[in-house]
Amino acid sequence: MSSPKVFKNLINGEWVDSKSGQTYENRNPADTNDVVGIFQKSNADDVKDAIDAASEAYKKWRLVPAPKRGEIIYRIGARLTQDKEALSQMMTREMGKIIAETRGDTQEAIDMTFYMAGEGRRLFGMTTPSEMPNKFNMTIRQPLGVCSFITPWNFPMAIPSWKSMPALICGNTIVIKPATETPASVVNFARICQEEGLPPGVLNVVTGSGATLGDPMINNSAIKVVSFTGSTEIGRKISEACATNFKHCCLEMGGKNIQIVMDDANLELAVDGALWGAFGTTGQRCTATSRVICHKDIVKKFTNALVERAKALKVGNGLDETVQMGPCINAAQRETVLGYIEIGKKEGAKLITGGEKLTGGDYDKGYFVQPTIFAEVTQDMRIWKEEIFGPVLGIGVFDNLDQAIEMANDTPYGLSASIFTQDVNKAYTAMRDVYTGIFYVNAPTIGAETHLPFGGTKETGNGHREASAVALDVFSEWKSCYVDFSGSLQRPQIDN
Ligand code: NAD
Repeated sequence: MSSPKVFKNLINGEWVDSKSGQTYENRNPADTNDVVGIFQKSNADDVKDAIDAASEAYKKWRLVPAPKRGEIIYRIGARLTQDKEALSQMMTREMGKIIAETRGDTQEAIDMTFYMAGEGRRLFGMTTPSEMPNKFNMTIRQPLGVCSFITPWNFPMAIPSWKSMPALICGNTIVIKPATETPASVVNFARICQEEGLPPGVLNVVTGSGATLGDPMINNSAIKVVSFTGSTEIGRKISEACATNFKHCCLEMGGKNIQIVMDDANLELAVDGALWGAFGTTGQRCTATSRVICHKDIVKKFTNALVERAKALKVGNGLDETVQMGPCINAAQRETVLGYIEIGKKEGAKLITGGEKLTGGDYDKGYFVQPTIFAEVTQDMRIWKEEIFGPVLGIGVFDNLDQAIEMANDTPYGLSASIFTQDVNKAYTAMRDVYTGIFYVNAPTIGAETHLPFGGTKETGNGHREASAVALDVFSEWKSCYVDFSGSLQRPQIDN
């Protein structure tokens, strides 16, 4: 057997070993005999080197005309498209989600890359009349400097690209610390950026643990923007650390997303939506459907149909095209999921399918859990309130739309929600009154498109959005410019 590939950090355009001299092994969560690669266990010195390189590169990159930056980014998009299959195969090996979904993850990175390449010829500001004669007013976006990205494992390439592409087109430089579990996709992404012409030091990658690298990634005074996607617990700490020095801080955090099923819904479609929303990515999406609430008149019919479909899901190694659900990301996450299943049982929710580890044969090589559904979940239960991040769905019941909306809002999070109904009045009422950053009608809680803002309210976010043109606001500062060509002193508010 050939020995696994060693992946290095990318600092100033060079692939380098960590100064720690240490590495770690990354294994496939569907088959722990499969070593995806050996990665650098980096330390604070490596982060400092990467930040220094990014600071130096910023001096030139910020002055490259945005359309020229866009041309490089366009080439990166073309190369990601060309290499999509290989990138996706590797992503399934490191993350476990099924190949159809990792192709989607890579495609999201492609979409974001092309979108932001186009921004190179837009980056629109405004021109607006002056209140004085012979004076011109306009706004321009200016970059900030070095951006620090701390990313999670569930979207190994999409999320790093969502942060990188708007940052780069605005003229910033970057240091990325990928999730410990999924460094390969970020290393692949960075390699392509470099090979397609991104200058040395503009995008740097340092792999390793968040606990070790978190502080140096945030507290260095050269870092002007911190963009983090991950748990609310870590996000809160990052927000506090950034506040001291007024760094731009963009946080995308947890979710406890709900699907509302009205009595007039197309039930077959609602079942399709819940199945995909709850068990896609093994429930490990920030937008995963972890609560479904049904009108009392259809709850039984809906539940029976959903359970039948969940039982039929094929769970296994995501490289097999026939598999529909992969493993949990690691042993600890599987224990968390199994722990929540026990909590649900103790709290009196009714376990109606799943609830166990999958064992025997190839299952023993990975971290598999059955697709699990609880019925009779009520608002006082922890499985109603807390993010589980696994293939566990709770079903509750309501009497009328007002109650459904109250239940939907009964969560500290505010990422995504959906309603299945044929009644346009109910759809629009829920769209107005459910307080989330994303809302779907007759579609599951997952399925964002890259040209719309992405993010959430309450404890999901801190008011910023990723994706779409609004993402540019995180990575630029407005400068209002006044050009007076009157040849005399004109005092606004006084001389007009
Ligand atoms: P996590 O918070 O454990 O880790 C996220 C990143 O933070 C990783 O790179 C990790 O290494 C790093 N990290 C860990 N400790 C740190 C510290 N002390 N300082 C700085 N960085 C540290 O989250 P996770 O388990 O990787 O991802 C799952 C979570 O992410 C879930 O809560 C999920 O809802 C959320 N998520 C949110 C979105 C969104 O857009 N809202 C998208 C995907 C995932």
